[in-house]
Amino acid sequence: ELFDSKEQAEAGNRLKTALLNNMSHEIRTPMNAIMGFSELMRNADAEDKLTYSEIIFKCSIDLLNVIDQVMLLSRLQSEKIPQEKSRFPVLNMLQQCSSGFREEARSKGLQWEMVVPPKANTLELYTDEEKVREILICLFSNALKYTQKGFVRVECSKQADAILFSVSDSGMGIQEKERERIFEPFYRGENAISQAIRGVGVGLNIAAILAQLIGAKLSFETEMGKGSRFELSVPLALPKKETVTPPAHRMSDHSLSKLKVLIAEDEHLSYQYLIHLLKGQVQQLDRAQNGQEVLEMVEKSHYDLVLMDIQMPVMDGLEATRQLKRKNPNLLVIAQSAFILPSEQGQAMEAGCDGFVAKPIQKEQLMEMIHRFI
Ligand code: ADP
Repeated sequence: ELFDSKEQAEAGNRLKTALLNNMSHEIRTPMNAIMGFSELMRNADAEDKLTYSEIIFKCSIDLLNVIDQVMLLSRLQSEKIPQEKSRFPVLNMLQQCSSGFREEARSKGLQWEMVVPPKANTLELYTDEEKVREILICLFSNALKYTQKGFVRVECSKQADAILFSVSDSGMGIQEKERERIFEPFYRGENAISQAIRGVGVGLNIAAILAQLIGAKLSFETEMGKGSRFELSVPLALPKKETVTPPAHRMSDHSLSKLKVLIAEDEHLSYQYLIHLLKGQVQQLDRAQNGQEVLEMVEKSHYDLVLMDIQMPVMDGLEATRQLKRKNPNLLVIAQSAFILPSEQGQAMEAGCDGFVAKPIQKEQLMEMIHRFI
């Protein structure tokens, strides 16, 4: 017995080391390009600079995806994740999810096909939209990753009591003996390892957990060397009563160019980045370095929008927002934070923030959030 448990412990340790090695590889690979091309940028001409900055951006997204996936898996394994149901149009969601992939398929020389029924724009689901998106994005991304030539086809159809999404590819397929294993956390298929295709091995595990949470079924068929077809069947449980989401509060008399914005940010580089994003687009940009300064500055001059960091010295963004909103309920406060768990976003909204953008902030997301209110 002792011998067996020693063996088991050692096998567990070996697995842990293999996982950490893989994680380290998945982090170092994009970091290698980010650091390398940042260095090369110093002496590059304008055209090369543009190419290098695109590479750096793409690798940063890869890196962020690795972090997000591992964080999400750890949350799914340790907390009870609530469902946030809403009623939403299926086609819209499908088109938004696939927009980036279409381009990626083209650049890989693959055909990206979308097959939807004639009245697809009338299809609706009542479930947790974010979770459906997360599952579909995992399936799209795998279909592209594991297909070297041919096509990726996304289909959706209405069944008696479900909407069926399917993602087919003409890729390498999966071995029958790995049927169950590919859903295990951190498991990477032999096809992925032998062809050095990058990944952390958590996508399908996350997708399976999310599918179970929303009562959906995830399954697949595959043939080695010919391709795979993953299916997600989401039950069509529409609510009895219409749920109405309240319209976002709008500042009708302002356009972007007239906005007076206060950036509450203690980190110098994060502040610099926001300044560069908004420079020339808004009328005035000031900075406060902590919550206390925000309160003092708002007392002295008029602002339309506060971009509120949450973690700051002296007084944090949550307390500052509570106090601000007590006196100025109409002042727009958008939280911007690297603490991005739903519970942390919830705290920001409870403190009175009108919106939330996650760091690293992407320009489009920030602008989209501001435009919700102006
Ligand atoms: P990752 O892609 O990071 O390895 P996943 O959990 O998403 O992690 O997938 C687990 C394994 O399932 C992959 O390593 C791969 O072997 C296999 N797999 C998933 N989707 C496909 C697909 N469309 N075609 C072939 N193999 C796939």
